[in-house]
Amino acid sequence: MAGASDTEVLVIGGGAIGLTIALRLADDGRAVTLLEPNEPGSGASYGNAGTIAEYAIIPVGTPGVLRNLPDLLFSRVSPLSVRKAALPTLFPWLLRFAYESLPGPMRRNVAALAPLLAEASAGWHELSAQIGAEDLFRHNGCVYAYTSMRDFKAAEADITLRGTYGIAQELLSSDALSRLEPQLPPFEGGAVLFPGAMSMTDPGEAMRRLAVAVTQAGVRILPRRAIRLERQSTGVRVTTPEGAITARRVVIAAGAHSRALVAQAGERVPLDTERGYHIEFDMPTPLLSRPVSPTSRGFYMVPMQGRLRIAGLVELGDLAASANERRFAQLEEGARTFFPDLGKPDRSWLGFRPSMPNSVPVIRPVRGAPDVILAFGHGHLGLTLAPVTARIVRDLVAGRAPAN
Ligand SMILES: Cc1cc2nc3c(=O)[nH]c(=O)nc-3n(C[C@H](O)[C@H](O)[C@H](O)COP(=O)(O)OP(=O)(O)OC[C@H]3O[C@@H](n4cnc5c(N)ncnc54)[C@H](O)[C@@H]3O)c2cc1C
Repeated sequence: MAGASDTEVLVIGGGAIGLTIALRLADDGRAVTLLEPNEPGSGASYGNAGTIAEYAIIPVGTPGVLRNLPDLLFSRVSPLSVRKAALPTLFPWLLRFAYESLPGPMRRNVAALAPLLAEASAGWHELSAQIGAEDLFRHNGCVYAYTSMRDFKAAEADITLRGTYGIAQELLSSDALSRLEPQLPPFEGGAVLFPGAMSMTDPGEAMRRLAVAVTQAGVRILPRRAIRLERQSTGVRVTTPEGAITARRVVIAAGAHSRALVAQAGERVPLDTERGYHIEFDMPTPLLSRPVSPTSRGFYMVPMQGRLRIAGLVELGDLAASANERRFAQLEEGARTFFPDLGKPDRSWLGFRPSMPNSVPVIRPVRGAPDVILAFGHGHLGLTLAPVTARIVRDLVAGRAPAN
């Protein structure tokens, strides 16, 4: 039965993905309601490294990672770790991750990510202008830096593969990197610069402005959690603790929390979380002028407004466990390797990347249920891919083949 709370499209989740989808649907003339129980944009979309990583076509799982997986998972200082208590529930995801890391599946995953990433910067140019956030972006590139020649050699296959996809990248000697970022110590293995790549100086502020633009576009944001989803002849009914809402279409964009809702819509997806961390050091002028990732450490050092953010690591585990203090210590120790004079961090954060074993996001209708659209699983690339994802979902809702 139609009620006052019914809507044409209901978007579940107000992170970068759900907010951008809601905006694009409203631009297309749809009546949109968005459910978000917390501050919009305060999940993974708040605490990331802020890179618009159009160059990051290599998935997390590669033959090299697979070869080193046991060492990576169980070493105390590895950038990739697993919470032992979560191993039994994680096992199916890990098995699938191992399979996706084989050469053939890995190449297929690169081929799936590359065309999405190719549109990312253009999407953010348009979106940042629309939401009045152009001042929150830098356009001076991002850097992968190699502490040893061994690290560089290990990265050569990835560099070659990116080259075959036409990704702009410049090899820098240790001296050339020092000229670009004078505060960094020498990096024996040199670096790769992705010239012109965009990055954000404050993802939290960008999310705030995005949420304002979404509201101004006429989207109704309700501070409610979706707890149940049922497909009915009258539409899709979504139950919240404050009552139910029926919509003609529902978009599931609840990030790492999407799996249970998808199961209620009739499909099982191997979505889990790669927990990620950040620490921040307040300083009037950050020590870097662009994001730099010492790749073997698994984090980015990112200049942000009034602070340096060290963001990254992958900790496989669940959504419920609290932050692991060892990971903060690991980030701190890592940051001090490059900047020994840093004081104590001013704040720290744990967030949940929504991760598929193949690193490829899920952006499509539920199989056999065109009224429920899935938009999650962006892993390390959700900020980057928000505008592209929103464009695809807008076209799916309109019944158009997604435009390229
Ligand atoms: C340390 C770290 C560094 C990163 N660096 C980068 C980077 O440099 N570049 C990049 O592109 N990406 C990066 N990422 C990844 C990126 O942050 C995520 O992929 C992206 O934020 C995912 O967006 P989302 O909207 O899907 O999820 P989220 O931002 O987590 O939003 C999901 C929202 O859904 C809401 N929700 C959950 N359950 C329900 C429910 N039942 N009902 C209603 N709402 C619900 C949550 O409250 C949340 O606000 C990084 C991530 C981490 C952790």
